[in-house]
Amino acid sequence: MDPLDWIDDELDELRRQSLFRDPAVVSSAAGTEIEIDGRRYISAASNNYLGLADDRRVVAAAVNAVERWGSGSGASPLVSGLTELERSLERSLAEFKGCDDAVIFSSGFLANLGCVQALVGAGDVVFSDELNHASIIDACRLSRARVSIYRHCDLEHLRSLVSAGGHRRALIVTDSVFSMDGDLAPLPGIVEIARECGAMTMVDEAHATGVIGAGGGGGIEHFGLTGQVDAVMGTLSKALGSAGGFVAGSAVLTSWMRNKARSLIFDTAPAPAALGGAAAALEIVKSEPERRARLRSLRQLVTTGIRALGYEVAEGAAAVIPVMVGDADAALDLAAALRENGVFAPAIRPPSVAAGTARVRLTVMATHTDAHAEQIVAAFA
Ligand SMILES: *Cc1c(COP(=O)(O)O)cnc(C)c1O
Repeated sequence: MDPLDWIDDELDELRRQSLFRDPAVVSSAAGTEIEIDGRRYISAASNNYLGLADDRRVVAAAVNAVERWGSGSGASPLVSGLTELERSLERSLAEFKGCDDAVIFSSGFLANLGCVQALVGAGDVVFSDELNHASIIDACRLSRARVSIYRHCDLEHLRSLVSAGGHRRALIVTDSVFSMDGDLAPLPGIVEIARECGAMTMVDEAHATGVIGAGGGGGIEHFGLTGQVDAVMGTLSKALGSAGGFVAGSAVLTSWMRNKARSLIFDTAPAPAALGGAAAALEIVKSEPERRARLRSLRQLVTTGIRALGYEVAEGAAAVIPVMVGDADAALDLAAALRENGVFAPAIRPPSVAAGTARVRLTVMATHTDAHAEQIVAAFA
């Protein structure tokens, strides 16, 4: 008997429940139009929100970084040293977020794992929104702190859990823009509750960085809370069009990360191409606010158009537009029908979202044209 036989059975079970996953193989860059099996589609699936992953200036900066710094980074910065390339991006990210300093990880996922695990451990408690990203959920588990889940964006519930006490240290952690729902966490209330009880705060700005806030600083900037959140996490992989993650905060916090975050210490530094590309993208985020305005108007256009057809569309704050369906089957059918009509968008099913809340998750990009937006709506029609 093959000891892996059980996997076949489990995969069959996933297929039966319409939960099997098998990514499409794409033969083009992460732009507004993509090619799969020789056919072109409008992409409504990428988190390359500002269109910077395939921006010529960003690509040129990534190429330059490879020419100057090589293909790989060699080792963890604690072993082989922090390159000037990485250090200068850390400084720029810190300034962008209004923080003293920042540390860069190889991905946002690893930034969350390392940050939570560095801040809390056995004897501590972490309060986490029930719809936080999987990387936060895993980070909480890995930390060995007690995990206390509060109802989505429910400040009263959070306050009642936090006031129970009985722990050494406490951390409140939330996405700012939620990845599958696109809504915005009530950050002012969270900061206030944390202040009342002396808890640390951590905000994951993966979907907000570059997208919301007047300067693109994210949800914290949007709410006027710059400097009031202890650990500001973000990723280089979405609006910044590259790969990597970071945590920004005080000099004390970032120094602690370098000493204690295992996913930083035991992980090779990001590739020079990713760092060079992200640095160029960050400059564009700052200098071209019209990309954010464009994103807002496209979200409005697509949301209004699809709602007019009778679909239930949740109100998003950034670039995520969730079209609620319910059953995993129905979400797959809708995604397949969209694809037949030239639009590529993912069916999001459990365990990414709760059972019964499957959806098609659309994302708009600042580089989509009006015609793209109209075609997305037409595909729903
Ligand atoms: C995408 C995402 C991450 C992970 O970032 P990567 O850079 O893709 O690893 C973390 N948190 C949230 C909310 C995300 O959406």
